[in-house]
Amino acid sequence: MRTSILLHACCGPCSIEPVKYLCKEGFEPTICWTNPNIQPVAEHDKRLAVLQKWAREVAHVEVIVAGDDREAWEKFVAPNLMNRPQRCRACYALRLSEACRVAKERGFRYISTTLAVSPYQLFDTCHEVLDATAKKAGLISVWRDFRPYYSDSVTDSRALGMYRQNYCGCRFSVVEACVSRHELRDTRKTKKHVHV
Ligand code: SF4
Repeated sequence: MRTSILLHACCGPCSIEPVKYLCKEGFEPTICWTNPNIQPVAEHDKRLAVLQKWAREVAHVEVIVAGDDREAWEKFVAPNLMNRPQRCRACYALRLSEACRVAKERGFRYISTTLAVSPYQLFDTCHEVLDATAKKAGLISVWRDFRPYYSDSVTDSRALGMYRQNYCGCRFSVVEACVSRHELRDTRKTKKHVHV
């Protein structure tokens, strides 16, 4: 008999490995979508559609579409602007609180998140927030380091032809991802130059 768990999911590609490994551990995941951070709305809808298609056709996992409170995101998260540690903490808290609310409503005891697969997330911050929100809601936080499987998620999602976004979700992360890509490109160029 497997143990039911509510798994907050940020997108389809990031859900592949957590679902696989939680199932291997004896859990039976139900996915919860709550991501009012994703901008623009068309991008949000695209990521949700990709997740739902994969869950229905490949993983055979139920997806609960929970609240996406964009007003709350603008009020509590956006004012942190480019202060990424504070902004992401507030963003995780908003999304994981909603996931915990749904978990309580639906009678789950365990909760987890796919955010733990991405090396681009603030791992320790997200861990703290999940533990705190779960505790407050009377739930058990199932935090796992899925990051070693990130490259598998890239390979698997490409093989499935899934859309893969190149920024976390909010308008600030579009800028941050762009800067990181440029920095990486400059570093590579510099290294090439040194070796010539
Ligand atoms: S970078 Fe990602 S986690 Fe951080 S605030 Fe933006 S959408 Fe939320």
